[in-house]
Amino acid sequence: MDSSLLNPRPTVDDSSFILPRLQGSCKASNMALNEQIRQLMAQGKTIYHFGFGQSPFPVVDGARRALAQHAGENAYLPVAGLLELRAQICNFHAELDGLMHLDPNLVIVGPGTKQLIYLLVQVFNGDVLILSPSWITYKPMTVLAGKRAFEVASSMQDGWKLTPEILEKAILESNTSTNRLLIFCNPDNPTGISYSEPDLKALSVVLRKHNVIVLSDEIYGHTQYEGDFLSLAKYYPEGTIISSGLSKCFSAGGWRCGYSIYPKELTALHQTVCSASSHTHSCAAAPVQYAAIHIFKLDEETKEYIKGCRCIMGAVAKFCHRELTGCGIKAIMPVAGYYIFPDFEVLRAVLEARGIQTCEQMCEALFKEGNVAVMAGGPAFMRPLTEFTVRLCFVNFDGGAALEGWKLQGCKEKLDQDFLDKYCSPVVQGIKAIVSWVEKQLAEL
Ligand code: PMP
Repeated sequence: MDSSLLNPRPTVDDSSFILPRLQGSCKASNMALNEQIRQLMAQGKTIYHFGFGQSPFPVVDGARRALAQHAGENAYLPVAGLLELRAQICNFHAELDGLMHLDPNLVIVGPGTKQLIYLLVQVFNGDVLILSPSWITYKPMTVLAGKRAFEVASSMQDGWKLTPEILEKAILESNTSTNRLLIFCNPDNPTGISYSEPDLKALSVVLRKHNVIVLSDEIYGHTQYEGDFLSLAKYYPEGTIISSGLSKCFSAGGWRCGYSIYPKELTALHQTVCSASSHTHSCAAAPVQYAAIHIFKLDEETKEYIKGCRCIMGAVAKFCHRELTGCGIKAIMPVAGYYIFPDFEVLRAVLEARGIQTCEQMCEALFKEGNVAVMAGGPAFMRPLTEFTVRLCFVNFDGGAALEGWKLQGCKEKLDQDFLDKYCSPVVQGIKAIVSWVEKQLAEL
């Protein structure tokens, strides 16, 4: 046997090889938490897992068939993606979002939106504005790209929204002599909110006035439970880069396929991101791109699938919101996606009496005493350490069975409690475990 396997090399401190600004950086906290919890669950521990947000649904059947059919496609594809796919993506946004100005030549398809957003931030000449709270990746990727991140704080009183006033203030406080890229998540992760027409119109005025470029992360757009999703690109077309992909409403996160759509005013930026892509990932996986053409053609099966997923997630979201707010926790009702971002401030006195000062500590107590895993708000979401906000992902159920159940019930618009008890029981049980833990804490007051 190789002796190095028995006697591993002594650990050496190689940190001097790492850029100072990246010293101590760690894996995305949601991914690390998910790995730990999965291990414990595999050992037989009951855990109500609200810590990781990926679609609970299987990939739509037609797309799987299309992927299998194209498994033999092994050639590198154009860096920006197959032209037919780019055209289909534009048709999809024209049909669903009324965006008629999109040009397939200004689309880039890549291995996930994460990669494409990162490359944009990397090549961008200026500072990056990021809303707080925000998806846990925007800030680390900005730091990784060596850019300055300016935090723009929103609040629960404002419904966790970016308002024109907050935006204007942040722009004036950031360095005025440089370009600005706003990363705008709509619908939002972690709060589940989305923006109305008046909201978007009002924001557009400020964005236009200060010539701010926006990366509009719309990956949750077509998970919106009710009504039509509105894109910022409708109101601020000249400055909005749309970002979306297969990971959410098509439940294919692991297929790694995302795209960005640039406006004609940002052609050079599009070209530069394409060139950066050619030197890093080359292109998105070929079989996946062929299958994605099928997805974006939106046949009846895919349309019904999206409708079913939206309806089920809407019912689950309403349940979580009702139960959590019913025991005194403050939360804004999500309108899209898989998350709610409640604030456990109501427990502050009792937690502090227990010596619990931070959200992280509260989540540890909830885990130990209630077997419930949630992600602490705090710095990962750019929130203060002592705010008791958490991100709760309500996806821990068998989405395939739930979709079948939805069809069996005649594809109804509204689902009742019996449906949730039958098909989404781990979420129902987990929320009940949170409520009973909260009530126990409040009884200590
Ligand atoms: N944006 C947001 C807001 C997300 O929540 C996620 C996934 N968690 C992504 C982008 C990443 O998507 P992709 O799988 O396309 O990289």
